[in-house]
Amino acid sequence: MKILIADKFGEDLPGKLAKYGEVVSEDMSQLKDADVLLVRSKTKPNKEFIDSAPNLKLIIRGGVGIDNIDTAYCKEKGILVHNTPSASAIAVAELVIAQMLTIQRRIVEAHNSTNAGRWEKKKLKGAEIYQKTLGLIGIGRIATEVAVRAKAFGMDIISYDPYVKEHEIARMTTLEEVLKGSDFISLHIPFTEETADLINKETLSLMKDNAVILNTSRGKVINEDDLAAALKAGTIRYAAIDVYRQEPPEGSPLIGLDNILVTPHLGASTGENLQRIGQLVEKLVGELSRGELS
Ligand code: NAD
Repeated sequence: MKILIADKFGEDLPGKLAKYGEVVSEDMSQLKDADVLLVRSKTKPNKEFIDSAPNLKLIIRGGVGIDNIDTAYCKEKGILVHNTPSASAIAVAELVIAQMLTIQRRIVEAHNSTNAGRWEKKKLKGAEIYQKTLGLIGIGRIATEVAVRAKAFGMDIISYDPYVKEHEIARMTTLEEVLKGSDFISLHIPFTEETADLINKETLSLMKDNAVILNTSRGKVINEDDLAAALKAGTIRYAAIDVYRQEPPEGSPLIGLDNILVTPHLGASTGENLQRIGQLVEKLVGELSRGELS
């Protein structure tokens, strides 16, 4: 069996997979003979890509969103597609908590000014997340880990998810209440027809003027022009954005604003997460080799 690792995984993964066959890393000339393909978000197995891999039996997406893979075409071709959804939740949840604290305590501003030799102690008064309302849109794996952590900080947690009736931490409510009543609105939804452009001029207009929007889910759930306009007008206080409509976000209206905290799709990028992804990938490849995977 030939296993092609197309994107960045843990350094020890090739060694762990060697017992199942030949492992090649980031050499796309090997695609035509590959039985198993490992991707994260960079490689995009579309129809043309899949047609150039006639031996392919399994694509593993190390991570959650499989929107970079033409899953319908894989199904047609009998290629299995698996992801590792349980691995990344803690890493992304910790980033969300870090975003809220960074914004409230003005850490980027404080660091830049102190590091430039200034002492702006009086100017840099911050705020707390304690007793603020956190509205989670989507309450799956990642949002649940966010809720656990936010609860420990003393936040009130509400959520809108049409597919979840009750949750052990968040009080489930309507989208309207989440938009109108939250100090922080954090998006934890997949990109689907239903969620495309969910944050737009109209939904933004329902939010509090001092609301903060956090997006670590998928860029296309936000209309970036509408959010940039609201941030410039001050009708939304701040945004923390990890994912973009196009990545890298060349020409995005969100880049370069004063009231935004931007990161380059780092949500899942921790060493610990790569280790967890590696363990799940090894398990899936083992199951395939024993004919146990469906
Ligand atoms: P999940 O499938 O566990 O949870 C998603 C939740 O969204 C589900 O509960 C579902 O019912 C809900 N949902 C679906 N449609 C909805 C709608 N229209 N309105 C409200 N809720 C809706 O997924 P997860 O593992 O928590 O991942 C959430 C998102 O985070 C995904 O988009 C994923 O791709 C993204 N993600 C980003 C990073 C990163 O690096 N920034 C890393 C991992 C995952």
